[in-house]
Amino acid sequence: MIKNVIAQLQMWLLAQGRCVGCGMPINKGKVSKKNTHILTTCKCGRIYIQKDKSSFYERAKISQI
Ligand SMILES: [Zn+2]
Repeated sequence: MIKNVIAQLQMWLLAQGRCVGCGMPINKGKVSKKNTHILTTCKCGRIYIQKDKSSFYERAKISQI
């Protein structure tokens, strides 16, 4: 049940374009290109992937880094 609350909070943060770890805007992180997608590394070390040209971020999977 607590896990569910955290998952919902993390989804909300991602929808706001914010890091699920530290709450900073993801677009303030370090941007790097990998193949066809854009990776953004937050200052706390979490890595996000930006889908196409949308501003929606997801946590990057190990295979995508
Ligand atoms: Zn962060």
